[in-house]
Amino acid sequence: MDIPRIFNITESAHRIHNPFTPEKLATLGAALRLETGTRLLDLGSGSGEMLCTWARDYGVIGTGIDMSQLFSEQAKLRAEELGVADHVTFIHGDAIDFVSDEKVGVAACLGATWIGGGVAGTIELLAQSLRPGGIILIGEPYWRQLPPTEDVARGCLAGSIADFVLLPEFLASFSHLGYDVVEMIVADQDSWDRYEAAKWLTMRRWLKANPDNEFAQEVRARLTTEPERYAAYTREYLGWGVFALMTRC
Ligand code: SAH
Repeated sequence: MDIPRIFNITESAHRIHNPFTPEKLATLGAALRLETGTRLLDLGSGSGEMLCTWARDYGVIGTGIDMSQLFSEQAKLRAEELGVADHVTFIHGDAIDFVSDEKVGVAACLGATWIGGGVAGTIELLAQSLRPGGIILIGEPYWRQLPPTEDVARGCLAGSIADFVLLPEFLASFSHLGYDVVEMIVADQDSWDRYEAAKWLTMRRWLKANPDNEFAQEVRARLTTEPERYAAYTREYLGWGVFALMTRC
């Protein structure tokens, strides 16, 4: 079981597989005012940076599930590196219907809401693991500016304009689901660059090391076109943020 190989190539050097910097991740942790010993569940935990750094900085205890074998291994190594291996557990697997045995104070899915079939489904899935009064974290794109045409939306690698909404509408959608939005941290163009531009050096080095690999042509094509595509579309039009939700009281 694994994710498409191309992601394991282009994001092999990423610790955060989203347009967030380590500073934004730390700001999010601080914003949530986490108490030592808070339990956290992370669906699509990637290389485990959120769980590992929050275990180190805020004393959380947590479990992450991710379908990428490479990222899951990297997460375990990171936990050892930060001295938190006894606080966090990383499971390599499909999180599609994962519900934790013990209820958690924070249930998160950052940049992987297809796991629950979209934002609403993922909130429903996470809610099954949440203790009363707990916080759900959803990391998801929205339109920073509405694309003027469907071609521009596709340039952002969205299927269509209808895939995302503007930020006010997105925040309202959580309210319609019965949740209060209690915090948010959003990406900016610099943090987008850390996610996207970091892939280019990784691809360049990978190509040099793997010229005869079956993916070499695909990686070559991406490296040639990605900087311009990203600057023209994603960087201008796509927002991304993490939204903290609590059931309305
Ligand atoms: N939340 C992490 C990773 C986001 S990238 C971070 O912010 O760094 C999306 C992640 O979802 C990838 O690590 C990918 O391997 C994982 N993923 C994709 N489908 C999945 C599934 N069905 N179950 C678990 N993880 C999945």
